[in-house]
Order: sequence, then structure tokens, then C-alpha cells
Amino acid sequence: MRIVCLDLEGVLVPEIWIEFAERTGIPELRRTTRDEPDYDKLMTFRLNLLREKQLGLPDIQKVIAAMGPMPGAREFVDGLREDYQLVILSDTFYEFAHPLMRQLGWPTLFCHSLEADAQGFLVNYHLRMPNQKQEAVRRFKELNFQVVAAGDSYNDTAMLGEAHAGILFHPPENVVREFPQFPVTRDYAALRQEIDAAFARNA
Ligand SMILES: [Mg+2]
Repeated sequence: MRIVCLDLEGVLVPEIWIEFAERTGIPELRRTTRDEPDYDKLMTFRLNLLREKQLGLPDIQKVIAAMGPMPGAREFVDGLREDYQLVILSDTFYEFAHPLMRQLGWPTLFCHSLEADAQGFLVNYHLRMPNQKQEAVRRFKELNFQVVAAGDSYNDTAMLGEAHAGILFHPPENVVREFPQFPVTRDYAALRQEIDAAFARNA
């Protein structure tokens, strides 16, 4: 019983806030937790800015739909789902991911959610639970799954460490240096090979 847990942004789709900032020409939306470590302040800033720019959820979803997944992501996901269970663990929001999940063939996604008012403007966000990526992997192990996890950045390393095997995909160099215990892959063929090899080792 094998389950693959994949990060979403930076693995199957672009970084949503950054790409959204580019496409809408609102550079302030490029701010990340590196610029503002207080996540609540950062999200409040983002939601207020979207409202100021008169961007409601339908406008936002239109922009996100046009981004599309990374080239080859759909085929990679379909191939994994033929041989394993697949759950995507992401710190994005269902409302943002929705247009991209359609293009990925609706794989299972565990993430957070947003709240819109009657006009479609975003008024709040709801984090499902803290450390949800790592917690999900821990629970899958309790359900007797062999878990292989892959992600691209800091917010994935706890999940990678919790899994029977963790793999980095397209990571920034500082993450590679800080987490030398995880193998590094840079394209879907290599990632798939590493996933298969990890399950074979843990069988
Ligand atoms: Mg990521």
C-alpha cells in the first residue's frame, strides 16, 4: 500500500502568488514570508490589496487558470496515479488551486481555504491545521501506507523527513545545502525514477 505525497507549487504548478503578481502587474503581491515572517500580517496585506485593486475571486481564478500547470505535469500525475495513490499536500488555498486542479485531472488535494463575501471579494483565510503536510504523512503511516514525499522548498522539509523517503524537486541551492539527506531531482523523469526506487528500497 503505497502513497505518494507531492507538494503543488514549484512542483506541478508555478508559485501562485509570484506568478499572479507578474500577470496582474501588482509587484507588492510578490511579498513572501521571507519579507514578512508574520503569516497573518502577510495574508491580511494580500487580501486587502486584492480588494483595493478590485480583484474578486472570479477575476483571480481567471488569471490562475491561464497560468496552467508546468509542462509535463499532467502526464507525470497521470502516470503516478496508475501505480500509486497520490495526495497533493499544499499550503495554497482550494479556491486558488481549483482552476489548476482541473488541468491536472482533479487529483486529491489537501490544503487551506479562503472566504469570499457576497461580491466575491476575499475577506478571510482559514488554515486547516498547523504543519498539515507533516501531520498528513504521519497519519498515512498510521494507516499502514508506505509514504514517499516530494517537494521543492523549506515548507516541505518536515513532510520529507516524516515520510519513509523524501525527495527534493527543483529546489533552490540553499535548501540543497541545508538538507543534504534528501536526493535532488530536476525533471519529472528523474523524480519518477527516484520515487520508484524509494518504494523498491522500502518494500
Ligand atoms: Mg512548493
